[in-house]
Parts: sequence; C-alpha cells; structure tokens
Amino acid sequence: MIIDNLKTIQAALKKTGVKNPPQLIAVSKQQSDEAIDEALSCGLRVFGENRVQEAEQHWTARRALYPELQLHLIGPLQRNKVAAAVRLFDVIQTIDRVSLIDELAHEVEKQQKNISFFIQVNTGNEPQKAGVDPAQLHEILSYAKNKNLNVTGLMCIPPVNEATGIHFTFLKKLADRYGLKNLSMGMSDDFVTATLSGATHIRIGSSLFGARII
Ligand SMILES: *Cc1c(COP(=O)(O)O)cnc(C)c1O
Repeated sequence: MIIDNLKTIQAALKKTGVKNPPQLIAVSKQQSDEAIDEALSCGLRVFGENRVQEAEQHWTARRALYPELQLHLIGPLQRNKVAAAVRLFDVIQTIDRVSLIDELAHEVEKQQKNISFFIQVNTGNEPQKAGVDPAQLHEILSYAKNKNLNVTGLMCIPPVNEATGIHFTFLKKLADRYGLKNLSMGMSDDFVTATLSGATHIRIGSSLFGARII
C-alpha cells in the first residue's frame, strides 16, 4: 500500500533530524492509473515524470480535478516536445544544453507560462549521461539568465555503483556558489543521504509505488 510506503519514507526523513525536510516528488512514470489514483488519495500532489508523452496520458485529465498539482519533468527533453512540456509541467528539472534554453525561452514567452527550471549537472562527468559538465555551469546559467528563464536550482543523477554522497555534496556546493536555492537529488535508495546533504527535492518512485509495471 502506498500509504504505508509513504509513512516509512516520512519516518526516515524525520529520523534524519533535518529541520526543513525536502519536498517528496512522487515519481509516477511507468505506474498504473490505479496506483496514481491511490497516491492522490494519500494526499500526494507533487509528481515527477520522465517522458512528456506518458506524462500527458497520466496527468492531462487529472490536472482538471486537482488544480493544486505540481508536475516536474525529470527526464531528458527533446526539442519536438518542448511546447507540450511547457504546457504541462510546472517545473522542468532537466535543462542540459544551450539550444534547449533558446527553445524553452521562446515557448515560455509564447504561452505566458510561469515555470521554474533546474539545470541538470553531470556530476560524474559520464560521457553517456545527460547534464551539463560542471565546468560549463557558469556559462549556461548566464545564458539562461539572459533569456529570462527562471532557474531556481540544480539536479543530478549520480553514477550507478558509486557512493552518491560526494555527488550530493558537490551539487550543494555548486548551488551555494551560484546562489540557487533548490537541489533535486536523491531517489529511493539514497534519499536519506541526499536529505542530509541538503536536498530540497527528493525523487522517489519504486519505494513509494512499488516496482514499475510498464
Ligand atoms: C525513475 C527516476 C527516479 C525514481 O527512481 P526510484 O529509484 O524508483 O526512486 C528518480 N529520478 C529520475 C530522474 C528518474 O528517472
């Protein structure tokens, strides 16, 4: 039951002793409609999705029923999905290149939509992984600022099979350096470490919903 999983997660957060615990983003990708409705009935209102099209299927109709929903895009954004993403999401966490900033700025202006953005940082410098190289963060932040994008934070997905704590500490240091208040880091297996490292948003899928079905 999602409610039991939620209580377990909340107890773990409480046990950290952190004064302002992070916002839990319930990652509903690849979950059934029943599971999503169950999560809503537990009072959860902040959800994350990693694919625009699937997110539309999950949330377009539900949005009308739950006006207080807050939807976060946490997966890579392709150029042909930018308009749909700006229409649906409240927060887009995965800015990872300059060309995407141009397109987002154009679309935000066109739709007059109030969205906040995070820059995804490739803290492990993995060649196959999305995210900006930490050395390019300064440049991309200035670029986004010039385009009037409301960048409020950073997000990372650390390398698998590596201790994640050093990546979280590094991301926190970068956010402090650039005066960004939000830090999206930590998933089912490491949200406690992330919380202790200063996460403001944790993205939790399987330990809340159970295994993904699709
Ligand atoms: C799927 C996903 C999550 C959730 O992962 P779990 O391990 O199931 O909690 C978090 N962040 C991103 C970017 C994801 O794609």
